[in-house]
Amino acid sequence: MPDLSDLLRRTSERVAGYRSSVGDRPVAPAVDPVRLRAALAGPLPEEGTDANAVIEQLADAVEPALTASVGPRYFGFVVGGALDAATCADMLTTGWDQLAFNATSSPAAAVVEEVVGTWLKQAFGLPADASFGLVTGAQGANTVALAAARHRVLAQAGWDVEARGLMGAPAIRVIANEERHATIDRALRLLGIGADAVQPVAAGANGAIDPEALAHALGDGGAESPTIVCLQAGNVNTGACDDLAAVCELAHGRGAWVHVDGAFGIWAAVSPSKRSLVTGIERADSWAADGHKWLNVPYDTGFVFCADRDAHAASMSYTASYLEGQGQDGARAPSDFVPESSRRARGFASWAALRELGQRGVAELVDRCCALARRFGERLAALESVEIGNEIVLNQVLVSFGSDERTDAVIAAVQQDGTCWMGGTTWRGRRYMRISVSNWSTTEGDVDRSVAAIKRLLAETA
Ligand SMILES: *Cc1c(COP(=O)(O)O)cnc(C)c1O
Repeated sequence: MPDLSDLLRRTSERVAGYRSSVGDRPVAPAVDPVRLRAALAGPLPEEGTDANAVIEQLADAVEPALTASVGPRYFGFVVGGALDAATCADMLTTGWDQLAFNATSSPAAAVVEEVVGTWLKQAFGLPADASFGLVTGAQGANTVALAAARHRVLAQAGWDVEARGLMGAPAIRVIANEERHATIDRALRLLGIGADAVQPVAAGANGAIDPEALAHALGDGGAESPTIVCLQAGNVNTGACDDLAAVCELAHGRGAWVHVDGAFGIWAAVSPSKRSLVTGIERADSWAADGHKWLNVPYDTGFVFCADRDAHAASMSYTASYLEGQGQDGARAPSDFVPESSRRARGFASWAALRELGQRGVAELVDRCCALARRFGERLAALESVEIGNEIVLNQVLVSFGSDERTDAVIAAVQQDGTCWMGGTTWRGRRYMRISVSNWSTTEGDVDRSVAAIKRLLAETA
């Protein structure tokens, strides 16, 4: 038997070694899949191996192939890098190995989730009595929220979807920003509503929904048809936020449920200087947020909130504990508000991130990332034939280098170079490099170093 303390110590040293050197590594690894497979694959071994040797083999093989997304110059997708306290709390979570099903299986996990939910509602300015669940990400959060919405709008039409399913049910219409995130459509598919139920509504220049077009769409279907309106705080390309106050008023006037996909944009609510982007957010019926993007919690963490606690629990719970208001010993049962039963105790890492930063620290993180995004915009716009494709309202920047071909060539060169990493996207029919500044450890120096690399590569690939 290996000494567990010794193995844990050496494992955490490897983690520390990786994290402390991550800023100096090429952001995109030069991976040789053949070598990686040779180091790890082959037929499933008949005999077991000593834990020390297992960990050494895994770490030796995988470490050179890692994407340095935890580091300060990874700007792809909307990717944060786990905070120190959140990383260590996640390691504790693994060591403790709790079953975060209910208050009997792990009272500690249940109570800590409760604290996290309460803190987040406070931070976002959501109703204090909203229900919440800790899920795997915004995909999970959108799915749970839309399940609650499906329950409520069909109940209003006299249909119990939990008992009867969707066969023979009144049709649901979903009115959503044409620029919604693809996870909304997947959630609708999973829920049996179907992606074709979406009536897309035109968005303005920066991708925020046009309230007039929305009013028109709402008027189309007749007041009776069960309706869900999907809004967005934080367009994945531009960072634009829908006008939540105006749309909530319109939609509620027609008896519709309003869901806000705020995967990363909802964090604007925590910053006094950005809060106006999401004015009226508290008036919606459900909200989706990510932990692993802007809060910089390790994967995979997301949060769903619902103003209609009964609809939320009715759509998810398979026990009756939610009916009594709480589970055993006055603690809420985490699994009544998510689709999983046996599940990871996600609350510990989120608690640690929120405790490490505090409300002010979260606001500063948001403000800093937004300022760095603007710095990217200004410095890149000063280069020849560079065009910024969006109004930079948050942490997302779109950059064109001329033709689509040229833009894709520059993106490929940047990824290959390894100083920083940005992905490509298509926005309004045109190719762009998309920059997302979401990592707590990114500095002005990292932005300048990245801009310098892009400038050099522009000259080299001209
Ligand atoms: C990232 C994102 C999602 C999906 O979140 P996951 O955490 O990847 O599941 C949904 N909506 C928006 C706006 C996003 O940016």
